[in-house]
Amino acid sequence: MTNSADRNTTLAIPHPGPLNSCGITITCAACNATRDWLLIHVHPDLVFVRCRCTHEWLEQDLEPTHVNEARDDSSEEREWASFEEMYRGLGFDGIFAGTYLS
Ligand SMILES: [Zn+2]
Repeated sequence: MTNSADRNTTLAIPHPGPLNSCGITITCAACNATRDWLLIHVHPDLVFVRCRCTHEWLEQDLEPTHVNEARDDSSEEREWASFEEMYRGLGFDGIFAGTYLS
């Protein structure tokens, strides 16, 4: 079961709204988007934010609790075979760059 360790400890949750954990709205450095993110929690306490334009970065201001809160709002729970498949399935592979879906 060692091969599935990464999948079991990585959680990716869509976050349609803006993020302002520290009172400052998080903005994508690549395309200036201010909402419609994918939050990726990598065990144990790293949180990445991915934008529709495929820009992805480690967000120091976010805690795993933020991801879990977003998770409660999300009705959908899926397992993906790979990151590429997940990005494609969730529309974070660049096809919706510059657009907000919700
Ligand atoms: Zn972007």
